[in-house]
Amino acid sequence: MMKSIVRDIALAAQGHDKINWVKEFMPVLNILNEDLSKTKPLAGKNVVITMHLEAKTAYLALVLKNAGANVCITGSNPLSTQDDVAAALAEQGVTVYAWYNTTEEEYEQFLHHALDTKPDIIIDDGGDLVALLHGKRSELAAGILGGSEETTTGVLRLHSLADAGKLKFPMIAVNDANCKYLFDNRYGTGQSTWDGIMRTTNLTITGKTVVVAGYGWCGKGVAMRAKGLGANVIITEIDPVKAIEAVFDGFQVMPMKQAAALGDIFVTLTGCKDVIIGEHFANMKSGALLANAGHFDVEINKEDLARHAVSIRKVRKNIEEFTMQDGRKIYLLAEGRLVNLAAGDGHPTEIMDLSFAMQALSVLYILENHAKMENTVHKLPHELDLKVAALKLQAMNIAIDQLTAEQYNYLHQA
Ligand code: NAD
Ligand code: SAH
Repeated sequence: MMKSIVRDIALAAQGHDKINWVKEFMPVLNILNEDLSKTKPLAGKNVVITMHLEAKTAYLALVLKNAGANVCITGSNPLSTQDDVAAALAEQGVTVYAWYNTTEEEYEQFLHHALDTKPDIIIDDGGDLVALLHGKRSELAAGILGGSEETTTGVLRLHSLADAGKLKFPMIAVNDANCKYLFDNRYGTGQSTWDGIMRTTNLTITGKTVVVAGYGWCGKGVAMRAKGLGANVIITEIDPVKAIEAVFDGFQVMPMKQAAALGDIFVTLTGCKDVIIGEHFANMKSGALLANAGHFDVEINKEDLARHAVSIRKVRKNIEEFTMQDGRKIYLLAEGRLVNLAAGDGHPTEIMDLSFAMQALSVLYILENHAKMENTVHKLPHELDLKVAALKLQAMNIAIDQLTAEQYNYLHQA
């Protein structure tokens, strides 16, 4: 196997510190780690992970390695790999092909290197690995027992493949597990998006008008936290039901065309493209801040923004200033890529504990059940959600009531 490719192995000490810190706050993964380190169910299996390579992900990789797997990891976004964490992981026996700020060519090359390890099981975030396994590297697909997908957009891409009858191995939609989207997408994105925006701009949120595009799980979290920070929140949607939900949650709802003139901060979380385009930039206030926390860097149309600008300059780390013909200035954060990961550490640790416990259980589920799984998109059994939630409550020292036999019978009577 090729040696790891990281930016600078000398950064490892800082990376070890970051990984050790998060371990303290990931009790569910710690319990799984203790158990799997003894039983080693993944002995001899090759696992490839394509995910945001920061400390929490590094710990997931180590848990799978401790379970006996040969683990290889690459980043799932050009800007979210942390070079110190990548170096630390390489020192701990995981094969790493990743560094911060990859070019498009490097990004794909690293995915190819990872696939060269001939994985038995894959963990994908966003669908780029699966896409390669159905395109340029389709010769490897037959050897794959199955895999799991972390995020909403990746699951959508999997459904498109499965609906066309083209999916070549079973994939588990970890995103669709309760212990994933209810906490990660909502509270995780809710906190980390504002963390990314605040640490990047050093500006207040209170008193500002925040426009949140998309009122799905992520949008709900971002809107809820914006309200808590004192902002006046406007929602844009295309789904009438989600729009009513936003109204009844106490937010104003209107089309982006109208919201464009009112917003001080715009956050897109739709998984769609061209959510903010030229006609919107034309109406924005001077000083408007644009951030994306949805999957790809296409929600805010950067080409359109550049076309409308007479000058563009980098004014601060992760902030570009676009000066319009009439002198207005519009600021784009983190190149329109996921602001919480490109300009922050992503979701908080206790939340990734839940997401990554579901990922670890998903890998074990594939190991045990792949022979009877069809080549389609699967949900994790609800018992695994209940198991992870119970372990988390236990770690948080929170007890809940149990049904008595009488109550059970009452609830299940005909
Ligand atoms: P979701 O399906 O629950 O919500 C998306 C919402 O956007 C839906 O309500 C949909 O109606 C709406 N929408 C679609 N197109 C729109 C448009 N043009 N204008 C306005 N609204 C539109 O999905 P989700 O789980 O909230 O995820 C949203 C995106 O964020 C996905 O791309 C997902 O992969 C990504 N995601 C990011 C993070 C992160 O860490 N930043 C975390 C989880 C998910
Ligand atoms: N490949 C896409 C991935 C979408 S990101 C891209 O980067 O463009 C959305 C996913 O990132 C979420 O489902 C969430 O679980 C994950 N995520 C958020 N914070 C994270 C963190 N701190 N570490 C690892 N993954 C994280």
